[in-house]
Amino acid sequence: MTTIKLHNTRTRKKEDFEPLKKDDVRMYVCGPTVYDRAHLGNARPVVVFDVLYRLLQYVYGPDHVTYVRNFTDVDDKINTRAAETGRDISDITAETTQWFLDDMGSLGALEPDQMPRATQYIPQMVAMIEKLIADGHAYAVEGHVLFRVRSYQDYGKLSGRSVDDMVAGARVEVAPYKEDPMDFVLWKPSDETQPGWDSPWGRGRPGWHIECSAMSYELLGDSFDIHGGGNDLMFPHHENEIAQSCCAHPEGNFAQVWMHNEMLQVEGKKMSKSLGNFFTVKDLLDQGIPGEVIRFVFLSTHYRKPMDWTAEKAREAKHILRKWRQVTLGVEPASFASPAVIDALSDDLNTAGAMSELHRMAREGRRDELLASARFMGLLEEQNDTEFGVSETGFRHDRIDALVAERDAARSNRDYAKADEIRDMLIGLGLVLSDVDGKTVWHRGPDFDPAKLEGLK
Ligand code: AMP
Ligand code: ZN
Repeated sequence: MTTIKLHNTRTRKKEDFEPLKKDDVRMYVCGPTVYDRAHLGNARPVVVFDVLYRLLQYVYGPDHVTYVRNFTDVDDKINTRAAETGRDISDITAETTQWFLDDMGSLGALEPDQMPRATQYIPQMVAMIEKLIADGHAYAVEGHVLFRVRSYQDYGKLSGRSVDDMVAGARVEVAPYKEDPMDFVLWKPSDETQPGWDSPWGRGRPGWHIECSAMSYELLGDSFDIHGGGNDLMFPHHENEIAQSCCAHPEGNFAQVWMHNEMLQVEGKKMSKSLGNFFTVKDLLDQGIPGEVIRFVFLSTHYRKPMDWTAEKAREAKHILRKWRQVTLGVEPASFASPAVIDALSDDLNTAGAMSELHRMAREGRRDELLASARFMGLLEEQNDTEFGVSETGFRHDRIDALVAERDAARSNRDYAKADEIRDMLIGLGLVLSDVDGKTVWHRGPDFDPAKLEGLK
């Protein structure tokens, strides 16, 4: 059996991955807050953990892996958006959730097995908070419930900070009702304009962190294998998840392996909504950049390295994907992805190494392996062929379209010599041209030979 090695944030080491149960491998990844289109940075963890999901399914079998990713559909950013637009919160969250699934689907991301929404798990969150209070890890005050950070000895271990350093460094809200500035909110009161649920502490809503603890417990149990997300979540979100889960369920160990992807950057800064330096996945798709191109660019950098998105990388990726499609047209994929690709991915998701292997297969003409291996990584999918101007018959419509447009332009500029030259070239390829309302249309004649098209400069 393939051994997967993963870098564990908790131990700061690359370790052999050993699931608690080989026939029930469990992974939880923090998902989006649904109030707006996902920006390109939000797509990075989705693609990274999609590759890991595929690899785990390959090694342990598709029926032995459970991947959970949540939707945060209760959050003050959503309330603000509703107030600004006059729309219902549920309309905004439903619409944004669907956008997210559509956009991530365009990037070839498989859907997780479970996609719990926070609002569906309020009773479980309330139960967990009650247990934390009963055990002295939380306290209720003025309609709020706060987690008592000093009650959990290991607080700060994941990100490697002491509570005292955090107090000194963090700009935490020092509300008068807090026992300690680091204590964080598990539950807070809602007024009539805010979404709220009845609870032992009055009508209110959960703090952000408790949802992941409650939902992962419900769906994966008190101990599971992998917990993932961007490294911007390590503190405070993941520290808080660990504190809540380990204190509410001391019999378990919560997540064994913690994995964090580095940030997608714009000019050296994290892409984020709050900095305003973002563009959405949909923006890129609308510019005609295929989702597979975005995926290719992401996979070319290791997930623990920061990366920049550049138009140049996208152009290059599109060019390569088109070339690979041309050389694999009509080719039957090999039955398995190449072992070299599996080995690279098993080495802490070395997607950049796996991409080099794909380049090598293309260079060496190992077409069937290239196709199988690329598809294993969610590339060269048949349903995306048309986006690359490659058709099942193996020639590039877009190249011909460009030549025809060039000919029409030459004609309207009365450059008949050039127009005729292009016409002869097209006819030489075996295409049949005709004039429809002053525009040239073309179809393939019986002598059409796609190979000749490739020979054109
Ligand atoms: P959010 O909706 O901000 O909680 O983010 C959802 C997911 O996207 C989390 O896993 C974040 O860590 C991740 N994320 C946010 N910004 C970036 C970025 N610039 N690069 C990579 N991942 C990001
Ligand atoms: Zn989370």
